[in-house]
Amino acid sequence: MADAPASAALFERARAVVPGGVNSPVRAFRSVGGTPRFVVSATGAYLTDADGREYVDLIGSWGPMIVGHTHPEVLRAVTEAAGRGFSYGTPSENEVALAEEIVARIDPVEQVRLVSSGTEATMSALRLARGITGRSRVVKFAGCYHGHVDALLAAAGSGVATFGLPDSAGVPASAAAETIVLPYNDIDAVEAAFAADGEHIAAVITEAAPGNMGVVPPLPGFTEALRRVTRDHGALLISDEVMTGFRCSRAGWYGLEGPYDSGAPDLFTFGKVMGGGFPAAAFGGPADLMARLAPDGPVYQAGTLSGNPVATAAGLATLRLCDGDLYARLHHGARTIAEAAASELTKAGVPHAIQWAGSMFSIFLCEGPVRNYAEAKGTDSAAYGAFFHSMLDQGVHLPPSAYEAWFVSGAHDDAALDRVVSALPAAARAAAAA
Ligand SMILES: *Cc1c(COP(=O)(O)O)cnc(C)c1O
Repeated sequence: MADAPASAALFERARAVVPGGVNSPVRAFRSVGGTPRFVVSATGAYLTDADGREYVDLIGSWGPMIVGHTHPEVLRAVTEAAGRGFSYGTPSENEVALAEEIVARIDPVEQVRLVSSGTEATMSALRLARGITGRSRVVKFAGCYHGHVDALLAAAGSGVATFGLPDSAGVPASAAAETIVLPYNDIDAVEAAFAADGEHIAAVITEAAPGNMGVVPPLPGFTEALRRVTRDHGALLISDEVMTGFRCSRAGWYGLEGPYDSGAPDLFTFGKVMGGGFPAAAFGGPADLMARLAPDGPVYQAGTLSGNPVATAAGLATLRLCDGDLYARLHHGARTIAEAAASELTKAGVPHAIQWAGSMFSIFLCEGPVRNYAEAKGTDSAAYGAFFHSMLDQGVHLPPSAYEAWFVSGAHDDAALDRVVSALPAAARAAAAA
């Protein structure tokens, strides 16, 4: 592992005043070991760390930086917006424009309420579903992550998987007792849960195409079947598109898999891409359901910084750049990296499975296919750690966890892709040796 003295010094300072030295656990490198790189700047496809080393970035802030870092058009929109004030506490036009952009992209979504994080979006969608149905239970799938909402922090994938915590301390039994955790891609389990408990279930929440246990797309017919079963039992279907929204296609995963014969999900949640790197997220659905929110309806939901003018300007500028050309570039970048990785891992004799949701992909270091969380846990974390550090030493920053998607951006041009591809042979050999 290469030394990173400036990052190491910052990490030591951080650990004195921030728990674990980080503000989101996966950044701490616990599952891969070593020193997290403190980034001082980011442009296009590259990160620069405190030691002055440059990396091709395949984290993309975990999804938001779909057009690349500091894109000139987004920067201009943000600078202009900031010059007009940081936060008003009143309605403003950018919020309307961002909502219009989202509604124009996803047919079943007629209205959205803006919030500041994906966690807030899923928490609010869940409250709305419970308010509409008057029921309390919720079904989620093992390995799906929906933010750190109490009721949804059971078998929650990535960050939680990385730390091997089955659950979080501090979540009251009463909150978890209302959550039914089922294996993903198992419609029989869903039918059995509804047969046993259907009249108490407010909603099924699912990642539209899970990316938080690595990428595990729904098997053909699974989402349709969820729609059918929930409707038969008067429960809502919440499609969490915080990661996939505006990433998998201009209309997210829904744009690839929908519309469904059995009907659209009731509520959708969005985040990541739609904030363009700033705190903006949303939940939405048909107008009659969204009318149940305050001030029109009885379900309370609010936010001091919701619809923030700078965040909405960044989100709007980013979404306007998410056109056919951008999706073609993402597709090319992702295929180039994944095919090269597959070929090098094969040469090095490392078992692996590359899985896709549109241009979103991840590489499991185990035999595929991976259809659920139990199978995802077969990935070889030690081999991934060796692979990760070899890439890092060669100037490519992968996600520091074996359970994450790799994110390319529109700024990953041939030069950036070449750097990734030329780092792969040594990384594959390191994984084989681990
Ligand atoms: C990232 C993520 C969240 C949580 O979003 P935050 O902005 O981190 O709170 C929720 N759901 C999914 C599917 C996500 O990937």
